[in-house]
Amino acid sequence: MTRRPSRRFVAAYLKEIGIDFIPAPPRGQAESAVPGPAGAPGETLEDIRKELAACRGCALCDGRRTVVFGVGNPKARLMFVGEGPGQEEDRQGEPFVGAAGRRLNQWIGRIGLSRSDVYIANIVKCRPPGNRAPLPAEAQVCLPYLKRQIRAIRPEVICTLGGVALAFLLDTEDKITRARGKWRSFEGIPVLPTYHPAYILRNAGRESEVFADFDEIAGRLGLRAT
Ligand code: URA
Repeated sequence: MTRRPSRRFVAAYLKEIGIDFIPAPPRGQAESAVPGPAGAPGETLEDIRKELAACRGCALCDGRRTVVFGVGNPKARLMFVGEGPGQEEDRQGEPFVGAAGRRLNQWIGRIGLSRSDVYIANIVKCRPPGNRAPLPAEAQVCLPYLKRQIRAIRPEVICTLGGVALAFLLDTEDKITRARGKWRSFEGIPVLPTYHPAYILRNAGRESEVFADFDEIAGRLGLRAT
């Protein structure tokens, strides 16, 4: 069972994201309607999306056009985690819609699935300026939302795309070149790190390693890679 976070922990988290006052609920109501970093039990993706829509938890909100929440099947067996939205994703409000996204779609197709079968989200939901990697402080503010998305979906497999997603989701300094293709775990869910599609667009010679990783995922899910 997930342990309920202490009041002090929740208060420290809320303070960090700029909330220092929460009106008390009317007498007789359940303790508080504001979920902590672990999220409310049984919450849905829509609950999380609504909360995130107004997020001003870090400076990335100043430059965003849209909060790029995530897309796909809320009951997906397979979930992908990328780094953060780029320019096109920020414009369209959907992760992985540019050239890297088209390559990701091809990989998903190789294992007999389509984009609408899986769920795709990022470590940070707002576009870092100039497409830079998210800073640790930005990732720390946004990670609780991703973790809540994962808990709401409970996929059978998570695939992290690139070193940044690996580092922040699994809190590791391991290099992606060594970590890819080796199973890890997040809250009991098997995680397979692979390369980011944008990296493969620049390093086509490494795509065979991604194919091997997708074959591995297909095997775990009982799918057939084509
Ligand atoms: N790269 C990512 O990591 N995420 C996106 O949504 C798009 C490009």
